[in-house]
Amino acid sequence: MEQKFDVVIIGGGIVGLATAYQLSKEFKNLSIAVIEKEKILGEHQTGHNSGVLHSGLYYTPGSKKAILCLEGKEEMVAFVKEHNIPHDICGKVIVATEEKELKNLEKIYQNGVANKVPGIEKIDAKRIKEIEPYCTGVAGIWVPSAGIINYKDVSNKLGELIEKANTKNKIFLGEKCENISEKNEISYITTNKKTIEAKVVIACAGLHCDRIAKKDHLNPGMKIVPFRGDYYELSEKGKKKVRNLIYPVPDPDFPFLGVHFTRMIDGSVECGPNAVFSFKREGYTRTAFNLRDTIESLTFRGTWILLKKHWRQALQEYRRAFSKKMFLKSLQKLIPDLTMEDIQPARAGVRAQALDSNGQMIADFKIEFKNKHVHVLNAPSPAATASLSIGRHIVAEIKRNNLLS
Ligand SMILES: Cc1cc2nc3c(=O)[nH]c(=O)nc-3n(C[C@H](O)[C@H](O)[C@H](O)COP(=O)(O)OP(=O)(O)OC[C@H]3O[C@@H](n4cnc5c(N)ncnc54)[C@H](O)[C@@H]3O)c2cc1C
Repeated sequence: MEQKFDVVIIGGGIVGLATAYQLSKEFKNLSIAVIEKEKILGEHQTGHNSGVLHSGLYYTPGSKKAILCLEGKEEMVAFVKEHNIPHDICGKVIVATEEKELKNLEKIYQNGVANKVPGIEKIDAKRIKEIEPYCTGVAGIWVPSAGIINYKDVSNKLGELIEKANTKNKIFLGEKCENISEKNEISYITTNKKTIEAKVVIACAGLHCDRIAKKDHLNPGMKIVPFRGDYYELSEKGKKKVRNLIYPVPDPDFPFLGVHFTRMIDGSVECGPNAVFSFKREGYTRTAFNLRDTIESLTFRGTWILLKKHWRQALQEYRRAFSKKMFLKSLQKLIPDLTMEDIQPARAGVRAQALDSNGQMIADFKIEFKNKHVHVLNAPSPAATASLSIGRHIVAEIKRNNLLS
């Protein structure tokens, strides 16, 4: 069976859906298909994240992450208000627990100022206690514009609106893109069920984006190296020790934010995620293993350079992943009163982190254009927060380059 659409989007995570939604708003007559290999939307990174609406203070001023996170958060909040999706702009604290972290804390604050993050404030130990009574630190930053949400709710709403915008639009669930080809300016996307014709293809395949790029004969110049993040959940007693969001000062060598406390929109409180090299791209347990994923990661030069440089931290993360005691110790830096009984193992997520062949983790969002094909090659955190802006950015580039003509 063959079908024709103006645009085919590969991947029904929040980035693919937000892009389809922005396209459907901009070009009302366009026919759009979203192809998702799972039976539900937002199954992978989108459905396994911390659910934080990031404020944009960590990212290098002028970077895509900084610009699209700030714009995207505003647009996301307006969107969820319009569609009555539960969320809470509860604010967060970033807490330095030792004097030696103060330099990095100051850097983050200055970044926030440069990025014009609204309302950020330097706070002292007393103010930290007023905001989070169980948290102990020497100094911190109060970030009033950060919030919480469930990105699966957002994804489902986007899916509904995409199909509503035009009766020709379709979301195909349980269809895996297996091949992409081009002939006479027409693209052919072959799935496990059919071949679809399109003028423009947008690949937002998250943990598989490098593989999809290769199927499209694009050398992505990077590889996805999966980093699992395990969470613990606070017990009823433990929950009383956290009001909203408490973050440590992150290690500037890594693109991850460090284990933190997050009140979820359903009322639970989670702590995590750690960042462990994963032997499976979509592996959500501590022992998950996939031979192809492992071989691909371990035959990539960049992985070895990264591991050589950071072997101590990698080993430490691996040990902590199997030791509740070590995990608790990290958390106790922020909340000294936390006990073993306060935390219980919970779910995990896997981050799609793009790594270049020199072992550098690509910090910024990476979106490549090849003729009439667009590939989102690095969309880690805060891409859920920024998704509507990422979508808007892709639509603007499609317009600027006349790809739909
Ligand atoms: C542990 C963790 C915590 C995070 N916390 C936050 C946070 O608090 N706030 C925030 O803003 N961001 C956070 N992020 C980042 C955020 O979740 C991601 O940036 C975002 O979800 C990326 O969306 P995506 O659509 O690119 O990827 P995904 O959600 O992974 O979607 C990609 C989709 O493509 C599909 N796909 C792949 N290959 C194919 C194929 N061949 N054919 C068809 N479909 C295919 C997959 O099944 C998947 O559904 C976190 C991420 C993780 C892992």
